Amino acid sequence: MFDYQQLFAEGVSRLHREKRYRRFRALSRQAGMFPAVRATDSRATHTAASKPVTVWCSNDYLGMSQHPVVLEASHRALQQYGAGAGGTRNISGTHDLIVSLEVELAELHRKPAALVFSSGYVANDATLATLAAALPRCVIVSDRDNHASMIEGMRRSRAEIKVFAHNDARSLAAALASIDPARPKIVAFESLYSMSGDIAPLATLLAVARQHGALTYVDETHAVGVHGPRGGGLLETQGLLQQVDVIQGGLGKGFGVVGGFITGSQLLVDFVRSHAAGFIFTTALPPVVAAGALASVRHLKQSNVERAALFARVRSVREQLAALGVPIGSADAQILPWTIGDSTTCQAIADELFDNHSVYLQPINYPTVARGQERLRITPSPLHSDAMQAVLVDALTSVLRSRSRDAA
Ligand code: PLP
Repeated sequence: MFDYQQLFAEGVSRLHREKRYRRFRALSRQAGMFPAVRATDSRATHTAASKPVTVWCSNDYLGMSQHPVVLEASHRALQQYGAGAGGTRNISGTHDLIVSLEVELAELHRKPAALVFSSGYVANDATLATLAAALPRCVIVSDRDNHASMIEGMRRSRAEIKVFAHNDARSLAAALASIDPARPKIVAFESLYSMSGDIAPLATLLAVARQHGALTYVDETHAVGVHGPRGGGLLETQGLLQQVDVIQGGLGKGFGVVGGFITGSQLLVDFVRSHAAGFIFTTALPPVVAAGALASVRHLKQSNVERAALFARVRSVREQLAALGVPIGSADAQILPWTIGDSTTCQAIADELFDNHSVYLQPINYPTVARGQERLRITPSPLHSDAMQAVLVDALTSVLRSRSRDAA
């Protein structure tokens, strides 16, 4: 008989051998305190005594997960509507709060329509799988560094996939030129890459895609809320919202709640709404989430306070890291990647920061990044104080000193 447990054991021990077994840090967040949290020990044994730690690796970029406006709206919705949506969107789950959220998101991107999904992952997977499967003989032309959720959707569509070099318009043009012009094409890429902080040359990539008559799909998961005068993302910053057919975004990062969405034309959105299994056959977002997300989107449309404070902190941390000789990514991104290059060193540094300095940075390993590109990813927020930053810089100074001592 097949030994199922043996297979699981081998799979897990391979990850241990390759030093990429994922260890979760168990954190206890407290509204009003973040990024200060309490954490159990590095083995995440829930029985261990907790200790105060500062988180420097969250995607809650603006601290909206505990913003009073979001908490107030969520509390009110919970009291008024209860905890669950009660069904799929089709079967009694289309709450007026979700409808309002979609209206707000469509307006954010100046598009006729929006559709909300349970996560950014599902939004990418369901939309790309649906569109590419429906377009006859479709070819998807995809940036090499696209997120797993986009790749999964593309694969499930069974469409042909061509990969172009990361952020490289010439490579995109060459890929498109190699395809029969009569075939439908989807060009898919991200605006802001979360593991490198790279920003796509949006205008150039979009112009190339347009020349070849491709449908364009841009993932703005890490940019919405955070970039753009009203939080519309980098396409808004660069005045390109109207150049894109499908804009995908997340509600769990800059907006601080959970969920994902697409915006686009009425017909395209209606098509996805009517065909995407990942949208149709799942319980709708609960009212408390829809209300929190709605409050967050509305707030960030008219408030620049959080974005200004975030980027002031990012500039300051970036300057101090540069002074330490830590190489960091794109100047306009809120994500500061520190590439270490191997998983063992990465984990050792993360453990030292956590155990000796109460600073939490999560090692990022293969397959999230390529082998040899293992890194720590620093994400400042408006809620990090000068004192927290001083601790971070002291901790990194000490780690760098002990590494150079070891290397000598
Ligand atoms: N798209 C990108 C580029 C991401 O990095 C992520 C997650 O980190 C997602 C989509 C998935 O978003 P969510 O966490 O909302 O599922």
